[in-house]
Amino acid sequence: MSNSTFVLNPISSSTAEALRAAGGAINVADSKPGYPCRQCLRDAEIGEELVLVSHDPFAPNLETPYRSASPIFLHSKSCTPPDGLAAIPEQLAVRQLSVRSFDDTGHMIDAAVVDGTDLDATIVEFFADQAATSLHVHNAHRGCWATSIVRG
Ligand SMILES: [Zn+2]
Repeated sequence: MSNSTFVLNPISSSTAEALRAAGGAINVADSKPGYPCRQCLRDAEIGEELVLVSHDPFAPNLETPYRSASPIFLHSKSCTPPDGLAAIPEQLAVRQLSVRSFDDTGHMIDAAVVDGTDLDATIVEFFADQAATSLHVHNAHRGCWATSIVRG
């Protein structure tokens, strides 16, 4: 995986901790999959507690009309991203996803709705455009931001 074309860029630990500290609706997972944590990129185990918050994945200094916050779950307690950020986690593979491609000014270049099993191919296709620097992945159905993806 060392020659990977992409790296997942999940929520930073500092942002996640700030959102936990600000608080939000507490949810206890009663099914799996169903409660995807956007820091560790796992679906919560039944009984695990999550907080539902809003997250804006754009860099704060970027002026883009596409800026928006999306709902995300985070485990209530601190967790850590997986080691393998150059691989698609099961959390994404099992869902239908909306993938949006942006250049470094925050202009949208392309977008598609794909099955998670096709995310790999979509990443390759979108990054074939050299202007594309960042992909934003959302759950197609409920609109939750899932992760951002940058070039490897
Ligand atoms: Zn987590």
